Amino acid sequence: MSEPQSGPVTDAIRTADILIVGGGLSGAMLAAQLLRLPGKRSVLVIEPRAELGRGEAYSAVELGHTLNGNAARMSVDPDNADDLTQWLTEFMAAGGWPESDEQHVPVSELFPPRGLFGVYVQQRLVQAQAVGALNGSTVEHVRAEVVDLQTLDDSVRLTLSDGQRLQGTYAVLATGMFPAARTPQTESSGLNAAALDPWDVAAMRQLDPQSTVLIIGSGLTMVDAVVSLEQAGHRGPIEVFSRHGLLPHVRRQPPAWADFLAEEPSIRTPRQLVRELRRHCRDAIAQGIDWQAPLDTVRAHIGRLWHQATDVQRRQFVRHVRPWWESHHHRSPPLSAELVARLHGEGRLRIQAASFKGLEPSSGGEVRIRIRRRGEVETVVVSGAALINSSGIEYDWRRVARPLPQQLLARGLVRPGPLALGIAAEVDGAVVGVDGQVACRLFAMGPPLRGMWWESTAVTDVASQAKALAARLVTGG
Ligand SMILES: Cc1cc2nc3c(=O)[nH]c(=O)nc-3n(C[C@H](O)[C@H](O)[C@H](O)COP(=O)(O)OP(=O)(O)OC[C@H]3O[C@@H](n4cnc5c(N)ncnc54)[C@H](O)[C@@H]3O)c2cc1C
Repeated sequence: MSEPQSGPVTDAIRTADILIVGGGLSGAMLAAQLLRLPGKRSVLVIEPRAELGRGEAYSAVELGHTLNGNAARMSVDPDNADDLTQWLTEFMAAGGWPESDEQHVPVSELFPPRGLFGVYVQQRLVQAQAVGALNGSTVEHVRAEVVDLQTLDDSVRLTLSDGQRLQGTYAVLATGMFPAARTPQTESSGLNAAALDPWDVAAMRQLDPQSTVLIIGSGLTMVDAVVSLEQAGHRGPIEVFSRHGLLPHVRRQPPAWADFLAEEPSIRTPRQLVRELRRHCRDAIAQGIDWQAPLDTVRAHIGRLWHQATDVQRRQFVRHVRPWWESHHHRSPPLSAELVARLHGEGRLRIQAASFKGLEPSSGGEVRIRIRRRGEVETVVVSGAALINSSGIEYDWRRVARPLPQQLLARGLVRPGPLALGIAAEVDGAVVGVDGQVACRLFAMGPPLRGMWWESTAVTDVASQAKALAARLVTGG
């Protein structure tokens, strides 16, 4: 996000029915759902980026930075799983994305570039605007950052970075994910300043192609960073460090498998879940069926299981299951996975189980980091020509150095969610304040609800939340 400056507060207050804070995928899809519902309403989406519907994920410009699921899995229409496939088919028939011809698979099995997915989201919003206009409904992009929010008896008031004030009947926090590198802890260790952006191919072109690059984190952002390096012409060693040293598995297209969690509702704890899942995976493998088939059936239940778990059980899951969940569930698109596997096979990319302990002073264009390898007591220093931080997302709002999260916490309007993952809320997204009071005018959706549902960031999570929340806001209640 750009860094808007706070301006003088003006007296005039603009009003709207619904104020959406953040115009990434969540904000855009909520606006689209609101426009499609009967009735007349005005919606303002406050977003500092130039375009709605993109956020960090779908602002990608490289064709190699693709969705991690195929078109059949990434519809933004909860009522039509084929929506993206249909849009892509039309888009490609009109000459769009000619590079996809090389892949020789049905459209539904293509993994679209994320930038292209952003175009799809935008077009769906434009279509919803046309539908809404028939009822006199409007949506407008206000280009600024929200720096403060107050709840009044009958409304919510926002203060923007340019000094404007907005008032609405409801406000929705659709502020997305905050990168870990922007937290005060890592800022103060200088990591952000020393690291290259994982998606910045132009910056990587400045590197000596034979130099060593260090990457912290081994999830999907690391996979994207390796794609970026390849695109930039880098041909030197890549050293990847992550706590468990696990790589994301490749996403295949497994066949359907019995929905065993629906059939056995007695499975409730992480231990029971893992035991049953392992059993089903073993059964699948014994029958010559991909283990991804049983795993994929869990996705529809994980929110419910997480929500009904105790904090002790959630902690057990995070401690013991999370690394495996991340690497098995958040799988890599096939072309990117092929690249990582090739570089690994050639010995150019090495993955080490090691934790990052901090930056070390360096000179002469070198980056030095201190790490501790798993199972060892001593720390060691490793060096390279560049460092990429792909260590993930900061979900704990207390550690996010942005004005709005800080103000909301200071005002007591939000409190940390379970395990300090995002913020506390009710099932319908109504935010819970520090006093336990459920807000009637302030809601949240998407990544801020990570603690509520565990998985609250993927396209399909966001799309179904947008639909449910739009219905909730329109009915009042
Ligand atoms: C690099 C990357 C790749 C991903 N790939 C996939 C994938 O392949 N498949 C999948 O299912 N999911 C993927 N995701 C996850 C998911 O789809 C995204 O996180 C999704 O964009 C969530 O949408 P969002 O609008 O909630 O958040 P974001 O897209 O992060 O958008 C939030 C927006 O809020 C704005 N904002 C924040 N604070 C304020 C404020 N105070 N005032 C005004 N605006 C504010 C930001 O500028 C931002 O544009 C990916 C995520 C990332 C980061």
